[in-house]
Amino acid sequence: MARPFTKKEAEEFFARLSAVNPIPQTELEFLNPYTLLVAVVLSAQATDKSVNKATEPLFEFVDTPQKMIALGETKLIEYIRTIGLYRTKAKNVIALSRALVENHESKVPRTREELEALPGVGRKTANVVLNVAFGEKTIAVDTHIFRVGNRTAIAPGKNPREVEAGLEKVVPDQYHLHAHHWLILHGRYTCVARTPKCPVCVVRELCRYKDKTREVDDKESRPKKLRGHAPSRRRDN
Ligand code: SF4
Repeated sequence: MARPFTKKEAEEFFARLSAVNPIPQTELEFLNPYTLLVAVVLSAQATDKSVNKATEPLFEFVDTPQKMIALGETKLIEYIRTIGLYRTKAKNVIALSRALVENHESKVPRTREELEALPGVGRKTANVVLNVAFGEKTIAVDTHIFRVGNRTAIAPGKNPREVEAGLEKVVPDQYHLHAHHWLILHGRYTCVARTPKCPVCVVRELCRYKDKTREVDDKESRPKKLRGHAPSRRRDN
């Protein structure tokens, strides 16, 4: 396995990503910590775009656990049936809403242990909620971050936990809060799975990927999302 980045190399890596997009944000639409939690649960093995399409009409009427319980599983399915694994996800969303009402005064808990005890919530979802809703310096390793971590060698690992541990070690403190979103957006729009856009990549000189591409088929010289990222539709709890 490749040698991970040094702190100095990681600092330069994030300095370049932050220069392009100083305050990266999640692309999931949400209104408060509860709707964020629901959106993240729905996003497992689905694109943020498909989740937003389903949650936009849903969150107009349902933005608290009580309202979700009142809606019920059958009606929830009608909203989310375009998202993969919708039956299981609907069950989990209703069950986690009940757990919030019964055990957490209808609020989203702020600790990893309490979050991971909720139905349908694993380490990745807990990390996203802790980071986005509560400003904790967590890094949720999804498929994009796993790929970028290994390809660039910033934090190589055989599984998401190893990549997360590697990133925790190497990401400089001043970049830790936003590292998660810089890496996701970089993987989603530049270091894409099939043909990475190496010629327009801002971290090209630091990246140790052996098969960097030489041409980019995009007409645009830089990924649209990295030129200006719209803030999420968010309001406080
Ligand atoms: S140079 Fe290519 S492989 Fe390396 S991070 Fe950039 S896009 Fe990914």
